[in-house]
Amino acid sequence: MAKISTVEAFLARVPLERPVTFSTRTVYMREYCLVRITSDDGHVGIGFSYAVNNSGSLLVATVNDIFAPRLTGDDSLRVEGIWHDLYQETLLIGRAGAVMRALSAVDIALWDLNARDAGLPLYKYLGAAALDRVPAYGSGGYYLAGKSNDDLVEEMRAFVEAGYDAVKMKVGGVSPAGDEERVRLVREAIGPDVRLMLDANNAWRDLPSAMEYIERFEPYHPYWIEEPFLPDDIDNHAALAQRTPIMVATGEVEAGRWRFKELLDKGAAAILQPDAIVCGGITEFRKITATAASYGVGVAPHAWHDLHVHLVASAENATYVEFMPDDHIVNFRRLIDVQLEDRDGHLLLSDRPGLGFSFDPAALEQYVGPHYPQ
Ligand SMILES: [Mg+2]
Repeated sequence: MAKISTVEAFLARVPLERPVTFSTRTVYMREYCLVRITSDDGHVGIGFSYAVNNSGSLLVATVNDIFAPRLTGDDSLRVEGIWHDLYQETLLIGRAGAVMRALSAVDIALWDLNARDAGLPLYKYLGAAALDRVPAYGSGGYYLAGKSNDDLVEEMRAFVEAGYDAVKMKVGGVSPAGDEERVRLVREAIGPDVRLMLDANNAWRDLPSAMEYIERFEPYHPYWIEEPFLPDDIDNHAALAQRTPIMVATGEVEAGRWRFKELLDKGAAAILQPDAIVCGGITEFRKITATAASYGVGVAPHAWHDLHVHLVASAENATYVEFMPDDHIVNFRRLIDVQLEDRDGHLLLSDRPGLGFSFDPAALEQYVGPHYPQ
């Protein structure tokens, strides 16, 4: 039995040199809540979550002020029980958002700690479905100031040339005609056999405004349309799914197994996209994935390929890792010391224990400051 000795959270602030725009928001800074848990047998587990722009301190305070005092002295293997205790402790102020992200980071650190203690990579500790590699799709296609349609086409074409059979780009950020042109050019460049995913980042507020775009996209056979509406607007997701042959995918900012069940019950999504740093950690991600399996639905987790490679490799109904090689826009890669290898549209699994990476000391010095233990 390993007793938890310390639980600490740290704020890492990683600015974007050029702000990036989605259909609905602009990101100029990425703040990460980094969690470090030590056990009395000398092992260290790490976890993390993300908060856009300047809200990371909410997560850090939740871990340090609310969760850490409860965890010290507990058994690190009591992961399910700890999850339930922390969820119950914060029921009035939690259940989603910052508190659930903080709980996610702690839960990930516990799984990492226990897998390292067992000397196993996380995907094997969880019970592997794959042992050497998992499929990934090439993700990007952001709106950036000065980025032309030619630049977008080249970005998508590069994924295909590297061996990816699926790529994703943003939509909903310009006019319907402007977006149709972007989708048309990308489809022409990648050919008919590559899956083309479209991510609207909650762009539309009702069915008519969504259909203005969707009808223009249909001739180019997108594989899915992602987050067409606010996550709370489940009924419109279901209505859209009735109106278009394009599959609706969503879930990247949802938390808790119950909301995902509601999406499935209402026919609002054909693909679920839980994010383990958002939805309640690895413990809750596995419940969501199991729920989806019982509905015959696949899971394609959102972002953070360094973490989700393990969760896709350990779930039979997980389909793709979202691979974001660019370290400018999703800059978590700058904080860690090992990068995943990709080959022929797959991410290679390693035998390094736990998550298979640690936080990079030089990056911590730069982005956290001198507070992180060396
Ligand atoms: Mg998305």
